Amino acid sequence: MEDKSFNPFKMAQQQFDEIAEQLGLDEGTRDFLRNPRREYHFTIPVRMDDGTTKVFKGFRVQHNDARGPSKGGIRFHPQETIDTVKALATWMTWKCAVVDIPLGGGKGGVICDPHNLSMREQEQICRGWVKQIARNIGPLQDVPAPDVMTNSQHMLWMMDEYENISGGKFPGMITGKPVGMGGSLGRTEATGYGVIYTLREALRSKNVDIKGTTASFQGFGNVAQYAIELYHKYGGKTVCVSSWDQQDQKSYSFYRESGINLQELLDITDKFGGIDKKKAKNIGYEILSGDEWINREVDILIPAALENQINAQTVLNISDKVKFISEGANGPTTPEADKILSDMGIFVIPDFLANAGGVTCSYFEQIQGNMNFFWTKDEVIEKLDNIMTKAFYGVYELSEKRGIFMRDAAYMIAIARVAEASKLRGWV
Ligand code: NAD
Repeated sequence: MEDKSFNPFKMAQQQFDEIAEQLGLDEGTRDFLRNPRREYHFTIPVRMDDGTTKVFKGFRVQHNDARGPSKGGIRFHPQETIDTVKALATWMTWKCAVVDIPLGGGKGGVICDPHNLSMREQEQICRGWVKQIARNIGPLQDVPAPDVMTNSQHMLWMMDEYENISGGKFPGMITGKPVGMGGSLGRTEATGYGVIYTLREALRSKNVDIKGTTASFQGFGNVAQYAIELYHKYGGKTVCVSSWDQQDQKSYSFYRESGINLQELLDITDKFGGIDKKKAKNIGYEILSGDEWINREVDILIPAALENQINAQTVLNISDKVKFISEGANGPTTPEADKILSDMGIFVIPDFLANAGGVTCSYFEQIQGNMNFFWTKDEVIEKLDNIMTKAFYGVYELSEKRGIFMRDAAYMIAIARVAEASKLRGWV
């Protein structure tokens, strides 16, 4: 399934070029916005538990900071590449702009597999990453956050190292911290909930009652778990989820026509979102190949794992029944597949709108940290819903007005905002 020739950064640039053309941006502005402003590569030597030294590769990319400090997560992944990080940083710029929060776009990563690392070794990677980049990040420059296979503990080690180096307390240098240590209530839920707030409004706009709809998810990690929780609360039924099996080094889909039971599956899922397939089989789930999540006859598909999953090949397996896709993952759909989805009449809520709940809540974490006063979870969730709903309608109304695909409308709004900020600053 993995396409080795796929380059996510080329895809991000291709998406940008198409919209820049439609917006009539001048050559200089295009040149400026289609590439990251800054890109850091470094090595992180770690003394392993067995006494040997292993060298890990780390990255940080700051795509654009015209609207505010760069913002974006840090991934730990064995297949991390600089082009993935550059693409994700670019998408973060558009994401912050589309929900209209005063932040730019950044992203980081380390090529490593936390499954095979002790907690001490992971801590050393976190501290080593900060040691290399401390001068170029910070509350006023670039604010990292968790992403695939990183969590609040990793963020806290990073903050601690940054404070060791800087000699002060800087809770605003990173978000996704544990609650009680500067973290915001609701952050864990935020991305998954945001995926469902935008889906809820999409269904409402098309006069579809969310109650009784069915969905299939790729992934069963942070985003998918909370999206499923809220989707079920609204009366939806999830019939399939897929996850990565560390032992077999491949993915599986877990299907039950009568609907999955979230808690039951959570009980047999590891902390990386991997579902135990033997236990799942014992409790009545059909175990299918990893690709099967996309073939299900459901109303809604929610990719919430990796990029490049709905591509020119896999898009052909999508059932006629599917009418909505809400993109929890970053970059799950290729431009070629987009054209086919558009022809199929599928309503797509693009990734950088659908999954913007996480960064929106990170922005709330910064605000609360600056005030040193923390909101209740209900307050956070209500503010999140308001921002996501407003952003959805901004994009939806433009897409209706101009008769264009939701992704194009979202890009138009976001790119125009960043181009305008860059212009006002006198950069382009
Ligand atoms: P996670 O690490 O918590 O979970 C990832 C899930 O994907 C796990 O269930 C894993 O088993 C599964 N997975 C991995 N490879 C797979 C494969 N080949 N096939 C099927 N399943 C596979 O990560 P997450 O935080 O849920 O993030 C998921 C996606 O959402 C990523 O694209 C991430 O960039 C994006 N995202 C996350 C956030 C956030 O706040 N967590 C915010 C915005 C976007």
